[in-house]
Amino acid sequence: MLIKSPSIILHRYPYSDSSWVVKALTASQGVVSFLVKGGKRHEFSFKNALDPLSFSEIVFKKTSKSELYFIKEASLIKWFPEMRNNLEALAIAQVMAEVILRYTPQEAELEKEFSLLLNAFESLDSSPKTSSILVQWLFEINDLWGYTIAIQYCVKCGATLKETPGDFFPELGGCLCKNCTSDSVPRANPLFLKDLWSFNQSMPLEKIPLMEKAFLLYLQRHLGSTQEIHSIQWLKEVRKLCSL
Ligand SMILES: [Zn+2]
Repeated sequence: MLIKSPSIILHRYPYSDSSWVVKALTASQGVVSFLVKGGKRHEFSFKNALDPLSFSEIVFKKTSKSELYFIKEASLIKWFPEMRNNLEALAIAQVMAEVILRYTPQEAELEKEFSLLLNAFESLDSSPKTSSILVQWLFEINDLWGYTIAIQYCVKCGATLKETPGDFFPELGGCLCKNCTSDSVPRANPLFLKDLWSFNQSMPLEKIPLMEKAFLLYLQRHLGSTQEIHSIQWLKEVRKLCSL
């Protein structure tokens, strides 16, 4: 059976002398792995369409025997040139691709994940960029996978938050109000708590890396996963380089 699907290329690695394995998030079939024979040859025509982080339309054949699919046609829809020209945007896109690759089940229907990722890439490719794109995306992925981070109400008493939360407890699902934390010293960094409130109010954030780290840890904790996201370290290094 031939399937035609918009796809975002998540990862590509060499397989034997002349072939590639390409992993892509497809709109209709979730994450699939393709074996691309002769993919490394110079004259190979799908080349740009199978670049990591490209948005392409892929026609592929599903076989019942193998977990690797065969590509019949691949055409590039968008290469996100602005995103690739910006080291930080590129590193952010890599973090997103790795999260999808590591944490989503193979071949489940992932239509919402697909549109969230595509929207995030579109934002990373436009200017001016919103600096909190990764924070927003991680928040939405948590929500989509059933681990909504409570930032609007207190997870202990249920009251709607009207000011900076008193603390943040990932194991309870999010923020606690100041009334419920008045007896104890907050565990969370005060700057992070301030940013949680800003995020709730759609205001600019001050310590974006702290928010990204917290929302990623939140996801990993709720998934029960110990698998690291290696590209977050790369993002950190890129930011260090860019700030010099
Ligand atoms: Zn409370």
